[in-house]
Amino acid sequence: MTFVVTENCIKCKYMDCVTVCPVDCFYEGENFLVIHPDECIDCGVCQPECPADAIFADDAGDYEDWVALNRRYAEIWPVITSRGVPPPDAELWNAKSGKLALLDPRPGGVGLAAHIGQPATEGRI
Ligand code: SF4
Ligand code: SF4
Repeated sequence: MTFVVTENCIKCKYMDCVTVCPVDCFYEGENFLVIHPDECIDCGVCQPECPADAIFADDAGDYEDWVALNRRYAEIWPVITSRGVPPPDAELWNAKSGKLALLDPRPGGVGLAAHIGQPATEGRI
C-alpha cells in the first residue's frame, strides 16, 4: 500500500503535505507533487493536511494509474521537504475537473514564467 497524489493537486500545489511527511517522499513538479510509492510508509498523516483533498490511500479506490504516474515522476523530479509558495491562482483551480491535461511534466523550480500560456503536455495517465 501507498498513499498517492491525484488530479486535484494539479495547479493547486498548496504543499501543506510535504511538511508532515516523516520520510520525505514527496517530489516536486512545476504544478503538481507526487509521492514515491516505494518510499511512502503509509502513515497517512499527509492526507488530512491537503486543502485540495488530493491525497488518497491507493487501496481506497481505483488508483492504479495514479500510482504509476506518481512513481514515474518521483523518479525524475526533485524531492521537496519544505513548503514553498503556492500558485497565486490555486484557489481558482481547486475542485476543477479535467486538470490532468494541464499537468506540467517538468521538474519543479524551472520557472513558472517560462511556461505561462503554454499548452498542456501530459494529457493522459
Ligand atoms: S497539499 Fe495537496 S494540493 Fe497541496 S501539494 Fe500536497 S497534494 Fe498537492
Ligand atoms: S502517507 Fe506518510 S509517508 Fe506516505 S507520503 Fe504521506 S506523510 Fe509521507
